[in-house]
Amino acid sequence: MTPMNLTQQIRIFPTLEQEEVLWKLSEKCRLIYNFALAERQHAYRYGITGVNYRKQQNDLPAIKQRYPEYCWVYSKVLQYVLRALAADYASFFALNKHGRANARPPRFKGKNYFTTMIYNQSGFKLEQDSISFSHKCNNIPLEFVIPEKFSFLNDTQITQVAIFKKHAQYFIAITYEVKEPAYVDNGRYQAIDLGITNIVTAVNTSGKFLVVKNQRPDKYWNPKIAKIQARRDHCKKYSQRWNYLNAIKRKYERKRDHQLKDFQHKLSKKLVENTRANTIIVGDLNVKGMAQSRKVPTHIRKGLHRATQNTGSLGRFVQFLTYKSNRVGKRLIEFDERNSSRECYMCGKLHEMPIWQRVMICECGNVIARDKNSCVVIMKRYLSQNAKWTGYQDFLDNLRHTANGKTKVPSPIIGHGSEDSQEAPSVRVE
Ligand SMILES: [Zn+2]
Repeated sequence: MTPMNLTQQIRIFPTLEQEEVLWKLSEKCRLIYNFALAERQHAYRYGITGVNYRKQQNDLPAIKQRYPEYCWVYSKVLQYVLRALAADYASFFALNKHGRANARPPRFKGKNYFTTMIYNQSGFKLEQDSISFSHKCNNIPLEFVIPEKFSFLNDTQITQVAIFKKHAQYFIAITYEVKEPAYVDNGRYQAIDLGITNIVTAVNTSGKFLVVKNQRPDKYWNPKIAKIQARRDHCKKYSQRWNYLNAIKRKYERKRDHQLKDFQHKLSKKLVENTRANTIIVGDLNVKGMAQSRKVPTHIRKGLHRATQNTGSLGRFVQFLTYKSNRVGKRLIEFDERNSSRECYMCGKLHEMPIWQRVMICECGNVIARDKNSCVVIMKRYLSQNAKWTGYQDFLDNLRHTANGKTKVPSPIIGHGSEDSQEAPSVRVE
């Protein structure tokens, strides 16, 4: 039994007075962040060493003595602001080191920025149906209702609570510890190939396939968003009308993102729960590689790039799968999938498989959908390296039985999944 951390987001509804308090506290945090950033920039410019998290944290008491209003904020929260800055720098340096063009140093936070306030270990109190936070701004208590469905949190070890604002709404994120059951390899495996058209193509050791089409809420929302944006751009920036249309645009974007996330949550849950396999193997993905592949003609590459960006959450999907597996004592293993879509699973011959070619036709007589072939190859490789020889043989035998003449061949054109289908995915494994 090893502990694992989970986070639960809960929306809170502060009163006007509480909101004012939250903003006052946030403002103090924001200023500390900006001061600390300025200090670091200065140190950087003049080659001063030793300006790091520890130094800045040790400076806090002196600052509070001089400017007592910084005492409003619970002391650990301020420390965590400095930690956030340190983390921002660390990620910037890491990206920069690898020469990534998207590396940007931390920036000053503007006056409308609501600083996320992190209460680590202490400073909050969870009761049956409410949570309260310490502060010394005034006497208005920061106490918020916790809906009944989250009452299970009372039985957990809470490590951290963050207050944050997103799209004009306030939330708390409660991080708590759960004990996860131990993992046992039960000799059953499921290999998954992730993709854009079919988000999941899976095969299990019984040789059964499962194909789930990707849901593309972006296909429904993006034209609407584009339309609103065009109307908005005809208005004077920040005029009343512009703000109104901008709010609608953001609402649509939010809905699109939520629908995709919701789909991924539900699908990953079903995948993990509906398989008897304790070990799930997924191809180690490199979404960026998919989008940038040079061999893809430009017009398709553009489309793909957009698709990987919009569904660009395949990485997130793997995260969902990982923690949902761990929670029920299963394991998700990321496994090298190099050439898995090019290699014929029957004879091992490597084919030129440009990304729009959906079917593999091999001289050995194997005709199989690209994604299915890919997940079979992943499974084969995994079994041959990590499982008992019998498991490997059984899988191949099972595959022969199920695949014989039953493999459906879709038309070899690039597809983009079903149009705006909103219904829940039907997932059946074994
Ligand atoms: Zn072949």
